[in-house]
Amino acid sequence: MYDLLIVGGGPAAMSCGMVIGSASEKPYIKGKKMGMIAYTKTSDLKAAVLNNLYGVALGVKGKELVEKELEHLKSFSALEQLEQEAITAVVAKDDYYEVKTQNNTYEAKNVVLAIGHSEKIANIEGLESYIVAHEKSLPGVKKSALKNTDLVVREGLYAAGLTSGCASQAVIAAGTGADVAVQLMTKWNDGVFDHHHDK
Ligand SMILES: Cc1cc2nc3c(=O)[nH]c(=O)nc-3n(C[C@H](O)[C@H](O)[C@H](O)COP(=O)(O)OP(=O)(O)OC[C@H]3O[C@@H](n4cnc5c(N)ncnc54)[C@H](O)[C@@H]3O)c2cc1C
Repeated sequence: MYDLLIVGGGPAAMSCGMVIGSASEKPYIKGKKMGMIAYTKTSDLKAAVLNNLYGVALGVKGKELVEKELEHLKSFSALEQLEQEAITAVVAKDDYYEVKTQNNTYEAKNVVLAIGHSEKIANIEGLESYIVAHEKSLPGVKKSALKNTDLVVREGLYAAGLTSGCASQAVIAAGTGADVAVQLMTKWNDGVFDHHHDK
């Protein structure tokens, strides 16, 4: 049973993983079982040339950034990197979720979905009742999101990045992923707010 499963391979999922991974020595995180399905295949970022992303040099190719950040994530050994594959189901059980892929089934108490805004997310079993139109899309473009309140879809299920309905700028998507990480830290810290800074 995972305490946390992060799904996605774009800026939102990776930022969530980086914040929680960097904080893993905190007493309330130490020993928690955390995993990530960093399936990068269809990240929108891979098509970008970046001239406006904070902390990233002018002209960097999104595809190269995705690969670099995946290596960065691997330095956080408390966050297990699982097989990179698409999820097909997120089934709510009593107090955990069953997350299925073609090859694996994972059980997790908390699941972060940062799986983009394609209308295909409606095909993932268990998400049907949370699908809404992505309101911050360009006119005439049909995209989907998961209905949420402050990134919480339901107890233990979080949406980040485009999946949460945010505007498509990488820094905004990344910020929502980091926000979910802080929410989880606070939850595990018995509701006392916490964040993580290294000095
Ligand atoms: C052509 C183009 C140019 C862009 N240029 C810029 C720019 O200059 N500046 C800027 O700030 N932003 C730019 N963007 C937008 C930016 O790429 C997005 O805002 C950002 O990638 C959103 O991050 P995300 O993590 O929410 O989603 P994504 O990066 O789309 O990541 C979603 C992830 O979910 C994974 N996934 C999907 N389905 C599943 C599934 N079933 N199971 C598991 N994983 C799944 C995907 O493989 C992907 O890794 C551009 C986008 C495009 C398309």
